[in-house]
Amino acid sequence: MTFATLGLIEPLLRSLETLGYQTPTPVQAQAIPAVLAGRDLMAAAQTGTGKTAGFALPLLQLLAMEGPKVSANSVRALILVPTRELAEQVHEAVRQYAENLPLRTYAVYGGVSINPQMMKLRSGVDLLVATPGRLLDLFRQNALKFNQLQTLVLDEADRMLDLGFSEELANIYKALPKKRQTLLFSATFSDDIRLLAGQMLNDPLSIEVSPRNVAANTVKQWVVTVDKKRKPELFVHLMRKGKWKQVLVFAKTRNGVDALVEKLQGLGINADGIHGDKPQATRQRALDRFKLSEVQILVATDVAARGLDIEDLPLVVNFDLPIVAEDYIHRIGRTGRAGSTGEAISLVCADEVNLLSAIEMLTRQTLKRQNEPDFEPEHRVPDTDASGQVIKKPKKPKKPKASGGGGKRNLGKWVDSGEVSAPEPSVKPVRKVPVFNTGPRKRKP
Ligand code: AMP
Repeated sequence: MTFATLGLIEPLLRSLETLGYQTPTPVQAQAIPAVLAGRDLMAAAQTGTGKTAGFALPLLQLLAMEGPKVSANSVRALILVPTRELAEQVHEAVRQYAENLPLRTYAVYGGVSINPQMMKLRSGVDLLVATPGRLLDLFRQNALKFNQLQTLVLDEADRMLDLGFSEELANIYKALPKKRQTLLFSATFSDDIRLLAGQMLNDPLSIEVSPRNVAANTVKQWVVTVDKKRKPELFVHLMRKGKWKQVLVFAKTRNGVDALVEKLQGLGINADGIHGDKPQATRQRALDRFKLSEVQILVATDVAARGLDIEDLPLVVNFDLPIVAEDYIHRIGRTGRAGSTGEAISLVCADEVNLLSAIEMLTRQTLKRQNEPDFEPEHRVPDTDASGQVIKKPKKPKKPKASGGGGKRNLGKWVDSGEVSAPEPSVKPVRKVPVFNTGPRKRKP
């Protein structure tokens, strides 16, 4: 199968040739003809599957071939994404695909001045990539009209709900024309996402790129248990031992990111951090430098790292486990992409046992534990398995330091190709998700 057989026009085929895309990925093979035919889509696919081209290519084709010229302050296609970084990334991809088409594309997001965005929108934009909050601001300030809108894409819809955008989405939804094409992409399909889909989509075609957590299949995952206070020390030890070159590290909080970066920099290690408190330009610069290998260790919170496409990233380290189990899939999805293999290591302390259990239940695997000599925790991390059980053992008297490591047990196995199965929609992970509500609600101050 080729992109030409999917019905794409010549200017797009030329862009794809320049980019070196030869064969459509499974999500592209399914999505492109359906979008060209005007169908609504409900697609289970995450970053790394080629989903951006899956919706952007047919969208650009429809914009180029059909519909009126865009009017002032209007937009003909809207792609909503959860974070600023993803907005930049998606827009960059769109820009490359649209290289040979006479279309105007643009990205708007918060954290930067709104005025240049308002100026740019004056002459109208064919395709706009936006984060929900900034989009609403622009709409309320009359910088944007939706009467020409023909297509709406919700990218990473699950994440938008996780980040608390349900109210913004409901308000955007109310402002859009009822007659439009809607494409919804989500890595996972919780009840809230299904509710959202039910309200927004019209007779959608369901696409599932299986396995859903496709990235995990090419990622070798393991856990090192350690006492909380010794995590930084263990990280540095593993880094030196493994001669790590480029590592994306996830920490739970902004303070946690700053503290680890400071510690690493203090040791002369080339590290930088990104989190929501940092100005957008600083975040983008840190990311760009990491991509260019000018920064060796990039420490990030989940919000900042969502959807980042970093080529050939060999290693992801969970310095802290994520609070929302599904974020684990997203995090490790930063490695092992586009067919390459990767490694994901989680440093887990006793406090995090329930988070570990939730991840194992969601991904239906018991993560291999591989403890590091001299870092064995004083506060033992109880055994866990994919059933969601935390296996509490009666307290033992102090362990003798005998060789063979008495109580140490490896429950798990390496997770290699084909061993990770997709979570069923009925598996309800531990997560806090605001319910999408289309009814009138009080706006945030
Ligand atoms: P995405 O899932 O959209 O974030 O895409 C993941 C990565 O795969 C991006 O770097 C894309 O440029 C790349 N990509 C997408 N589709 C193809 C394709 N058909 N052939 C080669 N690379 C692709």
